[in-house]
Amino acid sequence: MESEDPFNNALAQLASITDIVSIDPEYYEMLKSPRREVIVSLPLKLVNGDTVTYTGYRVQHNNARGPYKGGIRYHQNVTLSEVKALSMWMTWKSAIIDIPFGGAKGGITVEPKKLSHDDLERLTRKYVDAIERDIGPEIDIPAPDLNTNPQTMAWIMNEYSRLKGHNVPAVVTGKPVEVGGSEGRNAATGRGVAICVREAVKKFLKKDMKDVTVAVQGFGNVGTNTARYLMEMGAKIVALSDVVGGARSVNPKGYFDQKFDDLLAESNKIGSISNVKGVEQISNEEVLESEADVLVPSALENQLTEQNAHKIRASLVVEAANGPTTPMADKTLQRKGIRLVPDILANSGGVLVSYFEWVQNLNRDHWTEKAVNERLEAKMTKAFYEVLDYSEKHNIDMRRAALVLAVERVAAAMKLSGWH
Ligand code: NAD
Repeated sequence: MESEDPFNNALAQLASITDIVSIDPEYYEMLKSPRREVIVSLPLKLVNGDTVTYTGYRVQHNNARGPYKGGIRYHQNVTLSEVKALSMWMTWKSAIIDIPFGGAKGGITVEPKKLSHDDLERLTRKYVDAIERDIGPEIDIPAPDLNTNPQTMAWIMNEYSRLKGHNVPAVVTGKPVEVGGSEGRNAATGRGVAICVREAVKKFLKKDMKDVTVAVQGFGNVGTNTARYLMEMGAKIVALSDVVGGARSVNPKGYFDQKFDDLLAESNKIGSISNVKGVEQISNEEVLESEADVLVPSALENQLTEQNAHKIRASLVVEAANGPTTPMADKTLQRKGIRLVPDILANSGGVLVSYFEWVQNLNRDHWTEKAVNERLEAKMTKAFYEVLDYSEKHNIDMRRAALVLAVERVAAAMKLSGWH
């Protein structure tokens, strides 16, 4: 049986490059464990009168290249193992997109849909109170992830600023533009994923984007923005899904041909993409197994596993979510000749524009959306081709190529700084 433990999977990925990576074994050993793991207890009196104690985490994996950086996730399945894995992936991601950050991740084990807006705000503020000394613009900078959004980040900034007695916008990224957020941050991860799809389609499928069909799993921040930019690039979206279920277009053309904003508005109004007019409801499994050129998992970990990897019909998988493919599924996809652009590269546009936001905050500056998007485009394509070139030169898959490059960059910083 394969492991679905995310940290075991992150360690298995790291183990897969031992024969290629050239780093001191001492640093390899250090990189296997996060440097700090903070667990906090968050008792909260809900508006309905009940008191419930939630558990919050902040895990700091490595800061050799700069302050710790990573999102905060609210989900009922958040565990220490998951947060540890995500913190390690953040270290690799910051290194691969080449920004001066390390890796961290946070989360609260909570089903946010069951809480009122008011409860969520107070839970977020309690969490900030509990980890106040662990975060800060030069220490560790949180950002949005699953079920957290710009509003959550505004609460984090406000609570941290209240504790410090002055405004500290650079403590968190992904804020609304009105309180120091960057233009283009909210859509940045999806924009970066779409850039990776475009380049990989050119390279591996040798097709024009107008002739490419795509299935996207997950219709939140990353999934919606990925679908939006892919549609703008001319790609044909044939299947979409969210936690409620999947949707396949039933119009004669076989793909979603309405304006993206109309699709999103209707899905938001009805509560799920699977209920919008003119779609056939399908299961999430069917979305993953769609007959499409490209599959973009944009929801959760462990979606492509030993059980379903052999049924994947796409020629290209671009990982918008973190850790959607288990190590065993990875091997199956490779055996089937399916090309894969790994998460630490494909979804790094989010942390990249988070870095731009942090720089703007520290300089009390505000860039135009055009300036942000041009820098995003330049950095994403550069990172994509660095990973691709390394994979071709060493005849390895892009996941291992990205990991080797990242680990070598982090280990070089550890060595130069004299870590022992
Ligand atoms: P989100 O909360 O905005 O959206 C998540 C989406 O996934 C929702 O549409 C939800 O309905 C759907 N979903 C949940 N469970 C599902 C299931 N079992 N099957 C199908 N769909 C399901 O979260 P997000 O910010 O879009 O994050 C999605 C993924 O992208 C996560 O893996 C996250 O770690 C990763 N990521 C996010 C960012 C970012 O900037 N937000 C950056 C890098 C990576």
